[in-house]
Amino acid sequence: MALVVQKYGGSSVDSTDRIRAVARRVADTRRAGHEVVVVVSAMGDTTDDLLELAGRVTAEPLARELDMLLSSGERVSNSLLAMALEDLGLRACSLSGEQAGMITTGAHGRARITEVRPRRVREELARGAVVLVAGFQGVHLPTGDVTTLGRGGSDATAVALAAALKADVCEIYTDVDGVLTADPRIVPNARRLDRLSYEEMLELAASGAKVLMSRCVEYARRNGVPLHVRSAYGGEPGTTVFGSVEEQTVEQALITGVAHDRSVAKVVVAGLPDRPGFASAVFRVLADQQIELDVVVQNVCTQPGRTDLTFTVSEQDGPAAVAALLARRGELSLRDVLYEEHVGKVSLVGAGMRAQPGVAATFCEALSSVGINIEIMCTSEIRISVLCKDFQVSDAVRALHDAFQLGGSEQAVVYAGSGR
Ligand code: ADP
Ligand code: ASP
Ligand code: MG
Repeated sequence: MALVVQKYGGSSVDSTDRIRAVARRVADTRRAGHEVVVVVSAMGDTTDDLLELAGRVTAEPLARELDMLLSSGERVSNSLLAMALEDLGLRACSLSGEQAGMITTGAHGRARITEVRPRRVREELARGAVVLVAGFQGVHLPTGDVTTLGRGGSDATAVALAAALKADVCEIYTDVDGVLTADPRIVPNARRLDRLSYEEMLELAASGAKVLMSRCVEYARRNGVPLHVRSAYGGEPGTTVFGSVEEQTVEQALITGVAHDRSVAKVVVAGLPDRPGFASAVFRVLADQQIELDVVVQNVCTQPGRTDLTFTVSEQDGPAAVAALLARRGELSLRDVLYEEHVGKVSLVGAGMRAQPGVAATFCEALSSVGINIEIMCTSEIRISVLCKDFQVSDAVRALHDAFQLGGSEQAVVYAGSGR
């Protein structure tokens, strides 16, 4: 008998028919004798719809109230799934994040799980129930307030639970056949990867491959939880994420895949004094606002003694980043803050690229062959990322996927979802 944590994404439960189909899948696992904990996302595009609803009431919803609102989506899908399981003759119990002991920081909308106290989950398992945990949410103990974990956060709930319960496996069920070499909504012949290391998956996820939330991969790596990403529809074998690059004994492919992210924005802090202390002051201002930076580049500027500092943030954080910097304009002695939302990031990831000269050359040739101008380029040991205009992102992804011959001979299947 194993303890299995299964997570089902929103598009896999976007109707009551689908909830009943998922219930049958869960029931099969339970009836095979395993203990099952299930984490379900909100139905379909519920989270986006709720956000839209809040936007119709006020332009600036309070973060606390927004979390109360958004966390409700996962409670609906969980309780419905519990009812569907009971209807199949199984014992089931749905729990909110708080009831399941998901303790988080107090950062509304982007809270991090600091601890899991799964006493209630264990009690229900011992009673023979399938336990359903509302994903994407937790509680901040000092205030007692409900928090949410950021978009895609149900993945993090599932992994944190799997780690706390020492589950044998954490299965992530979604609307495609696993982790592919690119988003199949952009690249029709994207190929399913059998397995990849945490490192590669982390780079892909952090670069925008939203099939897994990057923080969930971090938790999985830290706690040694193997992830199995597979379709909630067919019986395809899926993708296993585990171990380090070095541990993966199969011959390492040069390139793992291409990821993209349209939700980035570019901020240029122009004419910052080119002296020690000013860059750090800029970063401190942003850190105080809890704003995460991504690509950071410092350039010489045309004015003597001044420098331009360029970085990317999520579109969501962009306006707050600009406002915080402009509010300190005098103190930071900066000339201006420029903001550009119509940019996207495209990244090539591959553990084998570190020892391969020529990857950057092929990368740039592929982009120039489709007329794409690179705005910023940066690399890690196993990744090359560029910023380009947002309307060029799909062309860039396809050009890179072709240039590095990542495609398969079959068309990838997208089972559901709006791709939102
Ligand atoms: P869920 O609702 O199951 O959490 P998401 O929409 O968050 O699903 O993630 C699945 C989607 O991720 C896929 O439908 C696909 O469009 C997108 N995606 C982006 N990059 C990849 C990739 N490399 N492999 C698989 N899917 C990807
Ligand atoms: N429902 C949340 C979202 O849409 C969490 C999740 O699906 O993982 O981001
Ligand atoms: Mg997701």
